[in-house]
Amino acid sequence: MLTRRSALGAGLALLGASAMPAHAAAPMRGGQVAGWYRFKLGAFECTVISDGAINLAPPHPTFGGNVATEAEVTAALRAAFLPTDRLPTFVNCLVVNTGRELVLLDAGVGPKPAFGPGTGRLPQSLAAAGIGPAEVDVVAFTHAHADHSWGIADASGADVFPNARFLMTGADIEFWTAESNLSLPEPLRTLVAGTREVVLPRRARFATLAPAGEVVPGIRAVPTHGHTLGHVSFHIESEGQRLLVMGDVANHSVLALQRPDWPFGFDADPAMAAATRRRVLDMAATERLQVLGYHFPWPGLGHVESRGQGFSFVPSPWNWG
Ligand SMILES: [Zn+2]
Repeated sequence: MLTRRSALGAGLALLGASAMPAHAAAPMRGGQVAGWYRFKLGAFECTVISDGAINLAPPHPTFGGNVATEAEVTAALRAAFLPTDRLPTFVNCLVVNTGRELVLLDAGVGPKPAFGPGTGRLPQSLAAAGIGPAEVDVVAFTHAHADHSWGIADASGADVFPNARFLMTGADIEFWTAESNLSLPEPLRTLVAGTREVVLPRRARFATLAPAGEVVPGIRAVPTHGHTLGHVSFHIESEGQRLLVMGDVANHSVLALQRPDWPFGFDADPAMAAATRRRVLDMAATERLQVLGYHFPWPGLGHVESRGQGFSFVPSPWNWG
């Protein structure tokens, strides 16, 4: 018969067992869950697809340039409980199944090691989400930077999306594939060279996306120039539900929102980028418009609220569908 006293005795006996030889320690497993997150937007099925993450360093002057001091940037990161020696920068691509077409918005870094070992996961994340690359009908780009466009080619230069047509603004296609821009200083030269490598062999499949043009019914470009001269965001709407895919309007969920006036090192036109950032964030806050931040903490979905001289990002809760 099990009494409190005998149960207590059994417990003590178990405690005593710890003096016996221990079983083998479990190995550290490493790795992480598959990088996809699915949600409905009206009649559309959306899937955020992770290409991994880039570690940008140092945080200053990458953010703040000569407008903010290193101490100000460090203080903002510390206050947000983030590392102060680097900026973990997520890469959140989006697949939208409109019911008629499968659209990928930005294609990740691809296999080139330029951005570190944590990137180039788009193909495996797509596979984990049950999406075949050959099913993708359209790849539309916010801009031509490496971490958005180089993922259309694999390590051998072959197509990752063999049946897709590509949409990019004329300003970005022209600037980032111009032979004359191979004479630009680094890192621009490397970015131009790499973009030429993936875009030019499939140039005939690229159509020019007007800055406010339609990608497919329900998805349209929104001109948000500054980060690059042809940079666009994407507005998605189905059955009255809306999402703004911001691209690189804001490159950090804390720094770029708290201080949208702080320059970001990869902005082509810092003044235009800062004005665009404030305008888009203000619109998102005013209209209570859900946003997707390409480089925000996974999966990058949330809302923007006005706070102080800037904004703050409010992540959307996980949705089990
Ligand atoms: Zn980017």
